[in-house]
Amino acid sequence: MRSTDVVIIGAGAAGLMCALTAAGRGRQVLLVDHANKAGKKILMSGGGRCNFTNMYAEPANFSSANPHFCKSALARYTPWDFIALVSRHGVPYHEKKLGQLFCDDKSKAILTMLLEECRQAGVDLRLNTAVRQIEKAETGYRLSTDVGSVAASSLVVATGGLSIPTLGATGFGYEIARQFGHNVLPTRAGLVPFTTSGQLKELCAELSGTSVDCVVSCNGESFRENLLFTHRGLSGPAILQISSFWSPGDVVEVDLLPDRDALEWLHARQAARPDSDLKTVLGEVFTKKMAALLTERWFASKPMKQHTPAELRGVADRLSAWQLTPAGTEGYRTAEVTLGGVDTREVSSKTMESLKSPGLYFIGEVLDVTGHLGGFNFQWAWASGHAAAQFV
Ligand SMILES: Cc1cc2nc3c(=O)[nH]c(=O)nc-3n(C[C@H](O)[C@H](O)[C@H](O)COP(=O)(O)OP(=O)(O)OC[C@H]3O[C@@H](n4cnc5c(N)ncnc54)[C@H](O)[C@@H]3O)c2cc1C
Repeated sequence: MRSTDVVIIGAGAAGLMCALTAAGRGRQVLLVDHANKAGKKILMSGGGRCNFTNMYAEPANFSSANPHFCKSALARYTPWDFIALVSRHGVPYHEKKLGQLFCDDKSKAILTMLLEECRQAGVDLRLNTAVRQIEKAETGYRLSTDVGSVAASSLVVATGGLSIPTLGATGFGYEIARQFGHNVLPTRAGLVPFTTSGQLKELCAELSGTSVDCVVSCNGESFRENLLFTHRGLSGPAILQISSFWSPGDVVEVDLLPDRDALEWLHARQAARPDSDLKTVLGEVFTKKMAALLTERWFASKPMKQHTPAELRGVADRLSAWQLTPAGTEGYRTAEVTLGGVDTREVSSKTMESLKSPGLYFIGEVLDVTGHLGGFNFQWAWASGHAAAQFV
């Protein structure tokens, strides 16, 4: 049987960071992944340009049943630490908006950087390697894998969440957690488009490809971003963000005129353009197609002067607080993240070590810590991987 200091299961964002940092401390690290490539989600991320961190990352950007858990690791490995690594490797990047840092070129630059760091530190990376069985040993863990049996004093679970099974996602990390007595909180798809039905679906399909700046709210959370109508329903950053706070049956409220008092504006337009049709006035703020469709489906199409004060109030209410009920989400097939996971109340926030089974660590998305859209999920992967690497 081969023996090593640390085995890390999962060569994604968190596993790679943990491996290169632990090996950099002189630990002997075996990093295994059942996929044929490391970091597949890194390659797919940020539309191919990897939104690798967010300059303004703070605990408020993360959801968890235990909101304090992420604070310590995030404070000890900040976006600036990762930016320093990226800069040392000469990877060009830019801020797209709202502190979101993207590669100028392809996401591959980030993966190449992490793999190069692993190589230099002497990480033994084994791809196409499944872990068949894990047992607790007298000191540490014994694993039976495709490359034979391995004993390690520390075992790190970095298997990620359930989103996008075609990229290698499995529930294996949750199984390991349960095997060693951990509670796993219910999981569901997050940062995911909504599907719609009935008249709302027809509206979405007709407006497919149209994007609007709006404020989307649900369950006390609000995001100002773009909403995108699609053939299946609603997407775009505003929708992905709010989807993480939505449960089936919940109503989502959309303010389509976020920069103005809708009623005041309609009164002003009525005074300025009394003979213009409502559709024409709405065309000042929406695309012509959207203005025409909204007027046709929601309001009376007639000159502004013919709209009574009550009717104008109705138009204002609809535009500033459009209430809609999604039919569902597109699920793990397209979700960027998985909400829920290993209960962080049973894991040390300082070391990421299990409080139930010494020498067992959980990092990254397998834990019940989920970031907003905008580079926060990678920052959690880097920070939690780095935290565990100090103690394995
Ligand atoms: C399309 C897409 C785009 C995204 N874009 C961004 C973005 O721009 N910015 C951002 O911050 N976040 C983004 N995310 C989220 C981000 O990719 C994840 O939060 C992050 O990768 C989680 O890191 P992780 O290491 O925990 O898991 P992962 O990166 O998912 O890695 C888990 C690894 O474990 C391996 N594994 C799973 N099961 C097993 C098993 N049984 N045996 C062995 N190995 C196993 C997998 O093959 C994988 O390599 C995106 C996600 C998706 C799906």
